[in-house]
Amino acid sequence: TVETRALIKRFDSGTNAVDGIDLSVREGEFMVLLGPSGSGKTTLLRMIAGLEQPTSGDILLDGQVITGLPPRARNMAMVFQSYALYPHLNVFRNIAFPLRAQGMARGSIQEKVDWAAKMFGISALLQRKPRQLSGGERQRVALARAVVREPVVFLLDEPLSNLDAKLRISARDELQQFQRHLETTTIYVTHDQVEALALGDRIVVLDHGSIHQIGTPQEVYERPADTFVATFIGAPP
Ligand code: ATP
Repeated sequence: TVETRALIKRFDSGTNAVDGIDLSVREGEFMVLLGPSGSGKTTLLRMIAGLEQPTSGDILLDGQVITGLPPRARNMAMVFQSYALYPHLNVFRNIAFPLRAQGMARGSIQEKVDWAAKMFGISALLQRKPRQLSGGERQRVALARAVVREPVVFLLDEPLSNLDAKLRISARDELQQFQRHLETTTIYVTHDQVEALALGDRIVVLDHGSIHQIGTPQEVYERPADTFVATFIGAPP
C-alpha cells in the first residue's frame, strides 16, 4: 500500500503544485492520476519516487513513513515519458544495468534479464542498440528495465506518450496485461481521459494540486463529483 498524508509541494514560484493530497493505493492496484497539464501529477509522482522532497506531509509504504528516504531505498521503479535508455549499451546491458549496480552475480543477471525480456517480447532484440529499435520496442525495453528489479511499486509517467496512436493502444493493452500478471502496485500518470478509463482500477482526478474525485472508471464517468470532473472526463454532469 502506498499512502500520502496531507502532502504539499510549494515551489519558489509561490503556488502549491501539490496542495494537500491524501491518497491510498492498495496493494496490486492500478491507480491512474488524471488531470490537465500543470495539475501536479508529475510532482506528486516524483515525491512518491523520492525525486522531489515535499514541503510538508508524509509518504508511507506498507504503513512505514518513507518521506525522507532516498529513491534507491524505496523499492519503486519509475518510467518516464522519455525512456532514457543508455544509447551506447545494447538492450541486454540496458536491462541488466540496475542489477549490475546492485552487484548481482552474472548468472542471476542473465536469468533475470531473460525473464524480463521474455515477458515484454523483446528476447530477439537483446544485442541491438537503442537506435536500432522502434519507439514501441524502446518503450518495452524501458519497462523491462523497470520490472527486472522486481519493484514493490511501479511509477509510470505518461510512458506511452511518445508512441503513435495505433501503437499506443496496443502498448496500453500489453501494459495492462503485464500489470495484472505481476500484480505490482502501479501509479500511472496521464492527461488522457481515454487511457485513464481503459487502464485504471481507480482514477484520481486532479486539478490545481487538489483531488476532485477518486473512483472507479465507471464511477468517475457516470457520477462525476463536480462540473470539473464532468467536463474533463467528457461525461454528462
Ligand atoms: P503535465 O501534464 O504538463 O506534465 P503535471 O500535471 O504533471 O503537468 P506538474 O509538472 O506536476 O504538473 O506541475 C505542477 C505545477 O508546478 C505547474 O504549475 C508547474 O509549473 C509547477 N512546477 C513544476 N515543477 C516546478 C519546478 N521545478 N519549479 C517551479 N515550479 C514547478
